[in-house]
Amino acid sequence: MAAIGFIGLGNMGGPMAANLLKAGHSVTGFDLSADAIARFTEAGGRKAATVAEAAAGADVVVTMLPAGRHVRTVYGEEGGIIENAKAGALLIDSSTIDVESARAVSAKAEAAGLKMVDAPVSGGVGGAAAGTLTFMVGGAPEAFEAAKPILEKMGRNIVHAGGPGNGQAAKICNNMILGISMIAVSEAFVLADRLGLDRQKLFDISSTASGQCWSLTSYCPVPGPVPTSPANRDYQAGFTAGMMLKDLKLAQEAASTSGAATPLGAEAAALYSLFCNAGHDGVDFSGIIRMLRGKE
Ligand code: NAD
Repeated sequence: MAAIGFIGLGNMGGPMAANLLKAGHSVTGFDLSADAIARFTEAGGRKAATVAEAAAGADVVVTMLPAGRHVRTVYGEEGGIIENAKAGALLIDSSTIDVESARAVSAKAEAAGLKMVDAPVSGGVGGAAAGTLTFMVGGAPEAFEAAKPILEKMGRNIVHAGGPGNGQAAKICNNMILGISMIAVSEAFVLADRLGLDRQKLFDISSTASGQCWSLTSYCPVPGPVPTSPANRDYQAGFTAGMMLKDLKLAQEAASTSGAATPLGAEAAALYSLFCNAGHDGVDFSGIIRMLRGKE
């Protein structure tokens, strides 16, 4: 069993670390939040006082942090992971961050003789607790092979997306599809209502026709057709509109630096900005249908 350092024990990192503990690994964790640390120690983890302490002596270091700037600091600065990790350690960053930061941190780790993968997830807090996350992994093949058995303790689908940063690239491309398709499906239901077309009828037809997609069949934004979708519980998240906006902004940043044209991605980011600015960032992202309906 590996000695694992885990930094960032929040909504996602907390349950992920708990699954590593359940699998029998010894996990030493650090977070800036005392509450997060308390939940982690209750689950059987050992508390570290600093990033350096969590990293030193670990065979594997996992991070689950809010954004690129936190990842750059926690890995790259004085007292950070790269400076303190033992020779040959494996570093796994599962935060969702910009591709550029992921590649910069990975290059720094590699220059220090460390293996690193970016391994952002989809599956949300429910998937983190159940150990059923999907990991989209970027990094050298040897780093991916080393990370796989650890990631398998926290997730179900572990996919190698290519070299450093490609895990993040896969995540933002996927979530750009998701944001755009949720708006498309929502607009179709708004139009159907206006035209007097029954919602269930639209669902039955489109779910087996060319309009079929995950936003319709697994996460339908109107109550009724898919009993498990957040629409049936007043759009309680799930995956918040704020998280969706974060990922759409990352996609727009990447489109701008790479020169890709993503006009619908830009429109989706603008619509989710409006929705979040109206005070709905904590609502499930499928709740955007309410704004499109013109009711709020
Ligand atoms: P969170 O805010 O609950 O957790 C982040 C944790 O990092 C916090 O506990 C915070 O105290 C800690 N932290 C921040 N800076 C730190 C530092 N310098 N040192 C140590 N700890 C530090 O966020 P979350 O929901 O767990 O999300 C984490 C990452 O996962 C984000 O990048 C997010 O985009 C991604 N993600 C979240 C979800 C979701 O549904 N919540 C789904 C997929 C991906």
